[in-house]
Amino acid sequence: MLQPDLIIEGGMLLTMVKGEKPLQHATLLIQQGKIADILICGEERPFFKVAQVLDARDTIIMPGLVNAHGHTAMTLFRGLADDLPLKQWLFEKIFPAEATHLSEETVYWGALLGCLEMIASGTTTVSDGYFYQDATARAVQKAGLRALIAQGVIDFPAPGVPDASQNLMVGKAFIERWEDISELIRPGLFCHSLTTCSDRTLQEAMKISRRFSLPLQIHLSETEEEVEEVIRRTGKRPVLHLDHLGLLNESLIGVHAVHLEDEEIDLLARNKVRIVHCPESNMKLASGMARVTEMVKKDIVLGLGTDGCASNNNLDLFKEMDTAAKLGKVRTLDPVNMGAVTVLKMATVWGAEVLGLEKEIGTIEVGKKADIITVDLGKPHLVPLYNPMSTIVYSASGSDVKDVVVNGRVLMKDRTFTALDAEEVMAKVREISERIRS
Ligand SMILES: [Zn+2]
Repeated sequence: MLQPDLIIEGGMLLTMVKGEKPLQHATLLIQQGKIADILICGEERPFFKVAQVLDARDTIIMPGLVNAHGHTAMTLFRGLADDLPLKQWLFEKIFPAEATHLSEETVYWGALLGCLEMIASGTTTVSDGYFYQDATARAVQKAGLRALIAQGVIDFPAPGVPDASQNLMVGKAFIERWEDISELIRPGLFCHSLTTCSDRTLQEAMKISRRFSLPLQIHLSETEEEVEEVIRRTGKRPVLHLDHLGLLNESLIGVHAVHLEDEEIDLLARNKVRIVHCPESNMKLASGMARVTEMVKKDIVLGLGTDGCASNNNLDLFKEMDTAAKLGKVRTLDPVNMGAVTVLKMATVWGAEVLGLEKEIGTIEVGKKADIITVDLGKPHLVPLYNPMSTIVYSASGSDVKDVVVNGRVLMKDRTFTALDAEEVMAKVREISERIRS
């Protein structure tokens, strides 16, 4: 019998289901973490005694956003090292700061801060790759978000993994510890890149990922320099080298994919490799502009990611959508490319597909998990409303998100956090930042 525990009432509904138009005055009934029913204009809802009600009048109700690539705890390094070339930024600033300051404790609080920021800006699922991932997983679990949490794999001493020869063992043990703990958390592996992981490490990481039916994430062709280094070492461009190693398949998530030739795009498409576009990080580190329009044309499944807070410097996917659309137009000098609908799909339904979660999240449909946000339309910059998709991508920002629900649980109500003590988290990270600064 229908007995909803949460009702989201009276908003304009963007389901993100292919071909469906925005629905006026919609009401969602949520039961045991799932969308149990959708009532539209004119349908009177029965009275339910125990249900919590979110007033969604004058809002857009839509799927929670999927941040398909990030390093959540890197909020710790927000603003620490800006305006530098990638290699210098990474090897002279970020890696040393990580080596000195990362621990179970700092990653936990940094990840919690990232979760707060994502909740505050409408992200309900994050794909994370980093170190000390037990701490990230505990933070994400406390925050109530949905996540793919991948242990970082790199072939030199890393935070929490001083002996690089143990990196895959550490990753596998992490997967085993977390695979059955929560329906919201999936563990996994994240190989840093083709220049920091050996061929053998990549192949073994793929074997482990396939054995557990999990995706494998990797930074791919992020900079020209990286591409040249791979060519020098292997004689092949990165995607061709991955093909040679037998690693192109639907389990692989390639992040960035900025420098691709036509042949590489064809190979990625043919082998159903998923790609994550991180335009703001690519712009800030001057890595280049990904050929997103060409990838969309080839039916490559594309998600959108903020990347870590040291290269962005925020986790607001609304800003990322706006940037993705505009950068796609500038790159091709064609305003038709990367329209609002395409970008919104990347941040919702396609992002879910990148992570292999498309049966559970990404659209608002009866039977799917209740990962839902509302966007407050009672703001000057969101008036008038002709096209809700354009409004979301070009006019709204994360701070317009009013309510956030993950798996039927309200994490933010009318901009008040319900699961986390924001003051405590910010105070802890400020304290840690004093250590990092000195
Ligand atoms: Zn990254």
